[in-house]
Amino acid sequence: MPFAYDAQNIFARILRGEIPNKTVLETAHTLAFHDIQPQAPVHVLVIPKGSYASYDHFAAEASDAEIVDFNRTVAEVCRMTGVHLGEGGQGFRAITNAGEHGVQEVPHYHLHILGGRPLGRMLARSES
Ligand code: AMP
Repeated sequence: MPFAYDAQNIFARILRGEIPNKTVLETAHTLAFHDIQPQAPVHVLVIPKGSYASYDHFAAEASDAEIVDFNRTVAEVCRMTGVHLGEGGQGFRAITNAGEHGVQEVPHYHLHILGGRPLGRMLARSES
């Protein structure tokens, strides 16, 4: 089945300028902005500007230029927010949720970059 995309989702509306955002970095193909309900001192969402519903949709169908731009933006966001490991940052977690089992709330692909405090285990053991 082909990937479906809902153009009315909130991140699509942010990309169209209909809803404000606190931008960290914008490039040709990618936007990074602060999560509205941060779960850590650093909580940035990185999204492609293209209409991709989930990580697997993006990975399967985005152009090489979009994929490179997205990943370079992730690296730059980590550097800008001070969580990168290159110059003394203490690390981060990158998470993407997809679909019902992944508990994805907004159906436009986004990568959460979380850091600024110890984040604990990736998943609670009881959820396995
Ligand atoms: P997910 O469950 O992975 O789909 O996460 C969606 C994320 O989007 C949540 O962390 C929300 O706090 C965040 N979010 C929802 N609306 C906005 C918004 N208008 N601006 C910034 N972040 C948002």
